[in-house]
Amino acid sequence: MQKYDPSTEVDFVVIGSGAAGGVMARQLSQAGFSVVVLEQGGWGAFGHEQDYNKDELSNRYPADVDKLISDPNLHRNTFRRNAGETATRGGHNYGCVVGGGTVTYGASSWRHLPWEFNEASVFGTMAGTGIADWPISYAELEPYYTMAEWELGISGERIDTPFMAPMSKPYPLPPQPIKSSGALAKLAAGKLGLTVVPNVAAIITEPYKGRGACINCGMCSGYGCQTKSRSSSAVALLPDAVATGKCEIRANAYVREISTDRNGKVTGAVYIDKAANNREVFQKAKVVVLSANGTETPRLLLMSKSARFPNGLANSSGVVGKYLMSGNGGGASALFDQPLNEYKGCVTGAAVLDFVPNDVKGRGFYGGGRMTARGFTSPIAYGLSGVHGAPTWGVAYKKALIEQANRKMVLANFISQMPIETNCVDLDPEVKDAWGLPAMRITSTSHPNDFKAMEFFRDKSVEILKAAGAKEVWADNISDSRGGAHSRGTCRMGNDPKTSVVNKFHRAHDVPNLFVVDGSSFVTGGRNHPTMTISALAFRAAEHLAAAAKTGNVKI
Ligand SMILES: Cc1cc2nc3c(=O)[nH]c(=O)nc-3n(C[C@H](O)[C@H](O)[C@H](O)COP(=O)(O)OP(=O)(O)OC[C@H]3O[C@@H](n4cnc5c(N)ncnc54)[C@H](O)[C@@H]3O)c2cc1C
Repeated sequence: MQKYDPSTEVDFVVIGSGAAGGVMARQLSQAGFSVVVLEQGGWGAFGHEQDYNKDELSNRYPADVDKLISDPNLHRNTFRRNAGETATRGGHNYGCVVGGGTVTYGASSWRHLPWEFNEASVFGTMAGTGIADWPISYAELEPYYTMAEWELGISGERIDTPFMAPMSKPYPLPPQPIKSSGALAKLAAGKLGLTVVPNVAAIITEPYKGRGACINCGMCSGYGCQTKSRSSSAVALLPDAVATGKCEIRANAYVREISTDRNGKVTGAVYIDKAANNREVFQKAKVVVLSANGTETPRLLLMSKSARFPNGLANSSGVVGKYLMSGNGGGASALFDQPLNEYKGCVTGAAVLDFVPNDVKGRGFYGGGRMTARGFTSPIAYGLSGVHGAPTWGVAYKKALIEQANRKMVLANFISQMPIETNCVDLDPEVKDAWGLPAMRITSTSHPNDFKAMEFFRDKSVEILKAAGAKEVWADNISDSRGGAHSRGTCRMGNDPKTSVVNKFHRAHDVPNLFVVDGSSFVTGGRNHPTMTISALAFRAAEHLAAAAKTGNVKI
């Protein structure tokens, strides 16, 4: 791998190596620019993926053994419902390794639908929310969705339905098996007149670009993929970046500040080298691309305050960190008479699409969601989460475990969450992380509308599972999000610097050589599952940025 001395001014520093950072590193280095990627997580099994550990006990308990996901004991964060409360310890976490969240994600890869970019114009706004149109349209992003799908390797099947976005090119790979849960969802859909399709996933079902097809090992979401079949940033993007000879990836590099000069331009980033006794290093750069995810990106901007940027970098609008959307969920579970073998294959088999669009009048709430059919929980997690309707210990518990483990199906829903100004990420005034930096504080309460949406999806899930022939059905308690890896919206894009953080090409309004490219720039949240849109936005941003850099329109 190319190595740069930190004192060498590289063209681009990219902070974060996940869904967005991987695209930026690859596209910018392939365009001929020098790139240093600073990633706070470790290497994982980058380059020797066959070594990924599928043993649940040592992989997950204690949770930080493989260090693929951030550990709230170290990356401490706090949570409160509203500004009047004192925040207490939070459990927010996200992928934290070279490749970011894509190394362990479930890989559902849905496009936004066209109207998800201008919901304010199409459906109107709602009191207490910041619903607004994006400054870009679906038509502008469509070529980059296609690019992302073909560059990464996405499997799926587009049927003729208004519930899937129009596509200029089909998915490059056929869909995964829909699993028993998908077949049961289809059975119910036939009775209820619903639309069920195989899940669209960043998991290759045939050999693709030198990688092997998914072998349906079953230890999928939450685990590194031994066969490189999950199209993560670490296997589908970063090796290409390294192969250019222009890109260096630095793992264990925890950025604590984006530095600026007297003119208000970015000069590079200061990071803590976790692999070298936490010594501080300054990497000089002409341009900084911030792709640290929907919660760490605003935190880093807020930590990068200076005399010139007293409210945090790129925050003259005061919007950095606000409008956090982590997406709501919930659903229902069921037991069937027959074994379902859900432990095989990827996490989600199929999706019910009919409730994706808004139907404000018909359903009585704003928003919608995608219902996913699934079932498997890995053995220890299953044991710990408890069985249904049985004691949690002793002979009766063991009997219920045996009876239920292979007969359970879940409808897990990915539901919209309204952007609300007071739902935010900021710096906890008291708590520090393990490196002495201000801990992230999350403040969040969903809009009453979102609770109605969750109730609707819970009840709809029960109806579908009953129609599928379940012998017993039970619903989740309704509770809204407290953060998590789907977080977005915290540096919203827009044309007006007073109400947004970045412009439609992800350039910070306040800082000409700073680009924020990840889920933070979402204006509205879509129906959760943000990663395909993050990837498409990154391909678009990279193309624009490379062209601008070549003509000298950024500081290069
Ligand atoms: C178990 C799991 C399942 C998921 N399933 C799905 C799914 O099915 N579909 C879907 O759409 N999404 C899913 N997600 C969410 C998905 O992973 C994210 O939407 C996506 O990875 C976000 O991309 P990103 O580039 O914004 O950030 P990330 O991929 O999170 O990458 C950001 C990177 O920046 C690094 N970083 C952060 N701060 C700093 C700093 N200060 N210095 C240096 N590095 C830093 C982080 O360590 C991380 O590696 C899942 C996530 C998890 C964890």
